[in-house]
Amino acid sequence: MGVKLFLPDFVYHGTSFDIAVKFEQAISVDALIKYSKNKDFGSGLYTTIDIAQSQIWATRCYEFDEEQFEENKFNDEQRDAYFNLNIKNVKEKTPVVVRYKIDKLVDVDQYDIQIFGGECYEWSEFILRHRIHSEYNNCDCLKRFGNHPDIIVGLMADNKISKVMVDFKKLFSNKVTEESVIWFQEAITKTQGGQTLQGLGLGNQLSFHNPDLNAMLTLDGLFIAETWYNKDKGIVSTWSNDFIKWGELK
Ligand SMILES: [Zn+2]
Repeated sequence: MGVKLFLPDFVYHGTSFDIAVKFEQAISVDALIKYSKNKDFGSGLYTTIDIAQSQIWATRCYEFDEEQFEENKFNDEQRDAYFNLNIKNVKEKTPVVVRYKIDKLVDVDQYDIQIFGGECYEWSEFILRHRIHSEYNNCDCLKRFGNHPDIIVGLMADNKISKVMVDFKKLFSNKVTEESVIWFQEAITKTQGGQTLQGLGLGNQLSFHNPDLNAMLTLDGLFIAETWYNKDKGIVSTWSNDFIKWGELK
């Protein structure tokens, strides 16, 4: 009896080149996990089976730059020049997708696995508690249950979650109660008209939280995007199928 989890052969993680080259292992505590704070499922390595989704994650680093740039109120020409210069000079910020290979010979039964089959109260509460505060070796489940799961499979919360967290703090002073969890679940999954948000269509994420899992995860290699700025479309990235094996990375 029990639940059997069959992991995919490969999973993908979107990041930028400068961060990826610092990975010494799949679950690199010093290069990744220590900086992974207040995430949906706690501090960990977040992956997906959907390469297109990981490409979207990877290009986020530029979107952040764009937001900061908005404040400068440059005209279109200055804006184009700024971005193209910035992108050229900041090659290390190039979006990349890291591919990990999963070794099926490692017995996953020895690990604590948590699967959220879809949106539900427990999923919302888990995300809420980790969004309020979580970092490596410090989260709500460690305090309450003495343990954070090693592997978590479940839906991603909607992308607008940082705004939701600001509203949550105002309304509930970050207190987790049945009422506040229900409010939070509505906020991350529904529009005001009660429609389910497209964000949930972004699909499943698989997250790994225990460095012991390096025994089954191998850094396989990466895909690198070509990125430029276009004033109508904003940051544009194109992804080729060229795959660089991890060992050949300089
Ligand atoms: Zn936790």
